[in-house]
Formats: sequence, structure tokens, C-alpha cells
Amino acid sequence: MSLRHKLCAAFAGLAITGMTPVSAHEHLPLRIEHRAAIRDLPAPSNPTHSLELRAVNLDRWPETEIHAALRTTAQILGQCGIRITRVDVLNITAAETHRYFDTPRSRELAQELALPKPAVFFAAGTRQVPAFDAEAIGRGNSRSRPELADTVWVARGARDLGIVVAHELAHVLMDSGEHDNTADNLMAESTTPQNTQLTTVQCQRLTATGRRHGLLRGVD
Ligand SMILES: [Zn+2]
Repeated sequence: MSLRHKLCAAFAGLAITGMTPVSAHEHLPLRIEHRAAIRDLPAPSNPTHSLELRAVNLDRWPETEIHAALRTTAQILGQCGIRITRVDVLNITAAETHRYFDTPRSRELAQELALPKPAVFFAAGTRQVPAFDAEAIGRGNSRSRPELADTVWVARGARDLGIVVAHELAHVLMDSGEHDNTADNLMAESTTPQNTQLTTVQCQRLTATGRRHGLLRGVD
């Protein structure tokens, strides 16, 4: 599936109200093939916060691609004094239907996996309409899909992967879908290799909200 937009769709669907329960289901036919921990990501010299992540590989993305992306993500979030101390990478074999970002299916998958958050899902693509390269679901836009709170979904083929992951994680940590189209800002609507900077105000918001939501820990 080709992606119609390269813009991020963070907090799309905010207008959806009401709780739709996940349909009752037998256990999903999914298998965790491999679990590995990454602990050697670049760290800021004076970290003030630590972040543990889950990375879920739903479509046999090359491990090297995920690892390289996370290195970039760690460098970018390091600007805010955040150190990614550990990433648990899970390689999952799931039915074709559950390899894509597709709200009802993804809710089932997230419910079944029941992972600590935040979690980044490296999907085969998206079946959302409109289709975006990546989506972030925070607290503010997950009332109708609580299983997806504090998750990021990246479609295969997304360019500038490490920047995309950092951008979407920043949405999650800030619990905000806001964009900032100032030159070089990470939170510009359109992800480019130049857009990697976070302002002091953005960092303050990101660390305060992330900590309040239990997604970041303070470093003594
Ligand atoms: Zn965005």
C-alpha cells in the first residue's frame, strides 16, 4: 500500500468519542519469536530522565534498521536530558491482518501483548484511511481505544525512520498532537533529516508530562 501522506497523524481521531469494546476473541494466533534487549544507545552526558521502550517488530523489519533508527531516536531525545536505558525488541509472528496499523486489529494485538508502555510498533503498513507513515496515540486521543494509549505505529517504508520514531514518541511523551513548523524543529508536521531540534519549552513539556504519566523516570 502506498502512503498518501508523509505527514504525521498524531492525535487524528480526537473527535471519536465513546468506548467501543474490543470484540471478544479467542487468543490471537501470534507468536513471540525472539526477544532481545538493546542497552547500548547513545546517552546524553548529563541525563535527567530515563526511558525504557518496547519495540515490536510485526513484519520482519531488519534488526539493523530498527537498531539504527533507535540510535538516532536516542540522540534526538538526548537533547532533553532523556536517556533511553533499554529497549526490549520483540519479533512477532502474527496473522496478516494484525501486521498493519488498523485500529480494531491493532487494539486486539496490543491487548493480547499487554506490554508496558511506551511501545513502538514497526508494522507492515497501515490500513487507516487516510494512510500516514506514522501515528502516535497518547492519553488524550485514546479514550475510544485505551489499549493503544502511549503507542507509536510506524509503517514500513517510512523515511528518516529514527527521526519519525523520535517525533512520534515526543507526541506521546507530551500527550499532544501539536506541531511546530519552525525551521529544524523535530515537531514540524513534515519529517525531514533537518528537523531534529527540540526547544527548551518542548523539552520541559515532554519531561514533565512524560514523568506525570509514568513514562519517564527521574535520574538522581
Ligand atoms: Zn506529528
